[in-house]
Amino acid sequence: MAEEENVKVAVRVRPFNSREKAMGSDIDSTMDGPRTVLTDPDTGEEKDFVFDYSYWSHDGSVEQANGYITPAAGTRICRQKKVYDDLGTGVAKNAWDGYNSTLFAYGQTGSGKSWSVVGYGINKGIVPMFSEELFHGIDEKKQAGSKTQFEVKFSMLEIYSEKVRDLLNPTPNKKKSLKIREHPKKGFYVEGLKTQYVDTYAAIEQQMEEGTHNRTIAATNMNATSSRAHTIVGITFIQKSKNKAGQETAKSSIVNLVDLAGSERAESTGATGDRLKEGAAINQSLSALGNVIAALADNAGGKKMKVPFRDSVLTKLLKNALGGNSKTIMVAAISPADINYSETLSTLRYGKPRY
Ligand code: ADP
Repeated sequence: MAEEENVKVAVRVRPFNSREKAMGSDIDSTMDGPRTVLTDPDTGEEKDFVFDYSYWSHDGSVEQANGYITPAAGTRICRQKKVYDDLGTGVAKNAWDGYNSTLFAYGQTGSGKSWSVVGYGINKGIVPMFSEELFHGIDEKKQAGSKTQFEVKFSMLEIYSEKVRDLLNPTPNKKKSLKIREHPKKGFYVEGLKTQYVDTYAAIEQQMEEGTHNRTIAATNMNATSSRAHTIVGITFIQKSKNKAGQETAKSSIVNLVDLAGSERAESTGATGDRLKEGAAINQSLSALGNVIAALADNAGGKKMKVPFRDSVLTKLLKNALGGNSKTIMVAAISPADINYSETLSTLRYGKPRY
């Protein structure tokens, strides 16, 4: 696998929300193939971005200021499936081959990050579709008489103000956080993080529900919303088998599925105290992640840049599944409304598009 193909960026625009509709917002973006064009509502200036994939989810009937009518859209379920087919199946293949992957969603709060990564109800996102396909594949192998032993482990944590909290095993003391250690071979890990063995898709669903529930409680305790924390779902897939000499061999892969804190939180303008610290921490992690991805992409192009993994808790914890043979996928989630123009522009710029 050529390393160059290992970093992929997709941009996804969601439909208007009720607030944007109520404000009579105009659409500020259009998509044509992999191209996304963003129009500055004040100056009319167009900015052109090309990513690996562009996903349009806006309803079909709204006419824009420039007269462009948005294309009719298919059903929601179909759209999630298309995104999974493009982005998720590669992650699944990588897992079977014993390679790691990191998929993350970036964008302002309410732009559709959770929609893409986790989904809502029947509109399943990448995590449930990946999990379902993984167990489907395991069942198929077992039915075909495979002697391989399969193990799947699940963990879920959040990073808030550079502190790690276990979402499957929350501590009553909200100040207490888990420590990050570094193993000479295995790299960074969270000491004492609960990793739950799961043997069915239903078991993963249950763990996801528990983690999501704890995430909401943690947010309420902090008098905040979950958009202020980064959530990492970790799925470890191990395939154990015996070779001809009877020795046990194992193929192991880690898949990190990341819902990042809302990117607008990185701006700490006017904030004081905890909110100021929080904004600074989010800014630090998001820019560290951006720098890591940029360095990996440069290195894939032949440069020899030092990849600054140590600059944030987020990049430390994702290090095992970024770079090398790992697949990295970023979904840049954007609002279609001109009132969000500047956030949308900064999200598209973060995606480091290829012009
Ligand atoms: P974020 O995680 O970025 O804060 P969400 O994923 O919660 O944002 O999205 C906000 C709302 O927008 C969701 O409740 C969902 O109904 C809607 N939404 C987001 N993306 C889409 C999409 N692609 N298609 C339809 N609805 C979407």
